[in-house]
Amino acid sequence: MSALKIYNSLTRTKDDFAPIDPTNVRMYVCGPTVYDRAHIGNARPVIVFDLMYRLLRHLYGAEHVTYVRNVTDVDDKINARAAERGISIRALTEDTARGFREDVAELGTLRPSHEPRATEFICRGADELDMVKLVERLIARGHAYEADGHVLFDVASMPAYGRLARRSLDEMEAGARVEVASYKKGPMDFVLWKPSKEGEPAWTSPWGQGRPGWHLECSAMSAALLGETFDIHGGGIDLIFPHHENEIAQSTCCFGRDTMANVWMHNGFLQVEGEKMSKSLGNFVTIREVLADWPGDVARLAMLSAHYRQPINWTLKGLQEAERTLAQWFDAAAGEADPRPAETVVEALSDDLNTPKMIAEIHRLKSEGRRKPLAGTLAFLGFRPDVLADWQAAKAPELSVPQEEIERLVDARLEARRERNWAEADRIRDELLAKGVVLKDGAGGTTWEVAR
Ligand code: AMP
Ligand code: ZN
Repeated sequence: MSALKIYNSLTRTKDDFAPIDPTNVRMYVCGPTVYDRAHIGNARPVIVFDLMYRLLRHLYGAEHVTYVRNVTDVDDKINARAAERGISIRALTEDTARGFREDVAELGTLRPSHEPRATEFICRGADELDMVKLVERLIARGHAYEADGHVLFDVASMPAYGRLARRSLDEMEAGARVEVASYKKGPMDFVLWKPSKEGEPAWTSPWGQGRPGWHLECSAMSAALLGETFDIHGGGIDLIFPHHENEIAQSTCCFGRDTMANVWMHNGFLQVEGEKMSKSLGNFVTIREVLADWPGDVARLAMLSAHYRQPINWTLKGLQEAERTLAQWFDAAAGEADPRPAETVVEALSDDLNTPKMIAEIHRLKSEGRRKPLAGTLAFLGFRPDVLADWQAAKAPELSVPQEEIERLVDARLEARRERNWAEADRIRDELLAKGVVLKDGAGGTTWEVAR
């Protein structure tokens, strides 16, 4: 078995991966905030960590891997959007979460073991870990304080704060541009709990009716579902600071441990045709819009064409290339498949998910005619030949002329050519072209195809 190496944002080195418990390898990935359709940038962590999940299942056994991806269903943007649309918060988040599940299923990613919703982990039963109990423990341990109806994390109480982001507290405080609320002891102290305004969702707590700060949910859900320390924590690179730094602060201080997750993985950002994706630039693309034009597996392969830590440029050319590649692979892989992926592909992925190398190795299987390992590899990656075939069939334009009529005209043209009646032969060719049928004369005779 090839040793798995992963680049760890915490150590900034590529380290050998050693699970805490090989019979239960545990991974947590920050999921979407469900206020609107997810964009294609949001699909990157979904696709990257799906690949990690597949690899871990292969290396340790499917029943020995637990993958949690949360749904953030409490957030100011959610409140604002529900009000704008005149629907309840619950209706908005259910609808958006369902859309997200549909989108990522169509991309061909596996469902995580658990997809917890933040609101279900705010207040739970007496013996169950939840966000309120987490805050209580942080206060009891001297890491949080109540001020003006809020509860804040006391950053100065944690010497290791800033370790993930590699920033010292002094630097951060000097650079703090946020307007500092008067009730804060230190400018970098962050909110664990805040009061809810009239009309905002609210939960009962020892500090009054309120709601959690954003970072808290991942500390609560990861501990409840994976334990106080687990193996891998993932998300986009923008989450390193403050979100992941604050998750670490909450979890380690609450549980009195040095470590929340052993390995921190971060995907690079996605740009569209070389530009930052933004609504104001008009290049904002949702996953749904991509899936209206392309099959999910083509989008997924396009996303894997760059190494996950590098930025990726999302382009039409990249999608076209992925379609061609996938079609070639399926052509060469038709028939029975090996039950396992090729070892060369597993090795490429075991090197910090080296997907460019993975793609090169799949090309090599194809060119060496290793049909069964190729088919086994495509199955392991979850690429579905029927999905591509159905899409290509649906895309093919309809014939405007019955096939027998085309064949009759092709024969008539051959006859004209035999009689050296070039004018008639050309006339027939042009007649067919006008109907969208292109003729090709080759050594083996004349073939036709529908013009695209
Ligand atoms: P959000 O819903 O904004 O919290 O984002 C959900 C996930 O998508 C997080 O892991 C983000 O880091 C990630 N993400 C957001 N935008 C992009 C982007 N343009 N490229 C790659 N990842 C992104
Ligand atoms: Zn998180």
